[in-house]
Amino acid sequence: MPLLSLILSLFIVVSAFAESSPELTVYTSRKTHLIEPLFEAYSKKTGVSIKHINGKAGVLIQKIKQEGAKTKADVLITVDAGNLGQAAKMGLLEPLASKSLLQSISKKDRGTNNLWVGLSLRARTIFYNKQKVKKEELASYQGLADEKWRGRLCLRTSRKVYNQSLVAALISRLGEDRTKKIVEGWVNNLTKPVFTSDSQLLEAIDNGICQVGIANTYYLARMIKKGDASNVGVFWPKQSDGGVHVNVSGAGVIKSSAHKKQAVAFLEWLVTKEAQAIFAGLNDEYPVVEGVAPSETIKKWGAFSREDVSLTEIGALQKKAVFLMDSVKYR
Ligand code: FE
Repeated sequence: MPLLSLILSLFIVVSAFAESSPELTVYTSRKTHLIEPLFEAYSKKTGVSIKHINGKAGVLIQKIKQEGAKTKADVLITVDAGNLGQAAKMGLLEPLASKSLLQSISKKDRGTNNLWVGLSLRARTIFYNKQKVKKEELASYQGLADEKWRGRLCLRTSRKVYNQSLVAALISRLGEDRTKKIVEGWVNNLTKPVFTSDSQLLEAIDNGICQVGIANTYYLARMIKKGDASNVGVFWPKQSDGGVHVNVSGAGVIKSSAHKKQAVAFLEWLVTKEAQAIFAGLNDEYPVVEGVAPSETIKKWGAFSREDVSLTEIGALQKKAVFLMDSVKYR
C-alpha cells in the first residue's frame, strides 16, 4: 500500500472512531447534583462523554442564540414549558422525529412540532399545616379564594414563572373573569406578604405561621430528607375540582449542533425506564414516562390527577396571567 493511501485509511479509521463516540455538550439550568449522575450513567453505558455548562435558562438560551452556527451546545435541558417554548420560538431547536422518543412521551408533554420533550413532571399543589387545617376544608386552587381562608393563606411572589403558569392554567380552564376573581380572593386572604421562594413558604406552613399555600412538591421532598416539615400535609385537588397543576422539565436538540444524531440517541436514553428511575431518584419530581415509580420520599403522597390543560396553551397564556395578577395587586 502506498504511504499516502495508508495515511488516508488511518485517517478514515480515526475519524470514524471519533464520530462513534463524540463528546456531547449539554447546556442546562438544572443543578449539577441533580443531573450529573445521569450523565455519568450514560457515559458508562455508551462511552459518550458529556460536558455540561450550567446557567439560568434565559442566559443559556441567549448564549445559544449568540453563538449561532458555532455553538458547542448539542442539547438544552431546562425546566418549565415556558423556557423550552422560548428556545423553540427563537428557532434554536431541531424537530424531534425519533419514533422511540415520540412513543415514550405523550403529546401533551412535548412542544409544538416536537421541538422539545418533557423529562420529568413538576406538580404544583396545595400544602397545609396538619395541626391547623382539616383536609376536608380543602378542595381546589380556586377554593383558596374563599373567605374562610382569610388570614390563613400564603403565596410565593407572582414574579415566579411557576405561579404565572398556574394562573395561565386557571385562565384556560375557567376563563379570564373568573380567574381574576379567584386571584383577587387569594390576595385578600394572604396572612403575610408574598414569599420569594417555595421553601420559605413551606417552612412557614410547617411553623404554623401560614396554614395553607401553594408550592412545587419537590421542595417538600428536600425538607423531608433534611428531617423537617413534619407538620406539612400534601393535598391533591381532585379531577372534578380541576386536578393538579403540572409543568415539566425537558430537553431539546440544538438546531446547529454538530452531533445531532448522538444528541437524539442521548434523549432516547433519557426517556428509558432506566434513566427515568435515576432522574426521579435525584430530583424527587414525577417521571414523565408511564410505569416508572416516583422516588421513595414522595411515594407516600399517593397518585394525583393532572389538570386537563396543554403546556403549549399555558405558555401562550402566560403574558395574560402576568397582566391579570398585576391588575389585582398580587405582588
Ligand atoms: Fe424550583
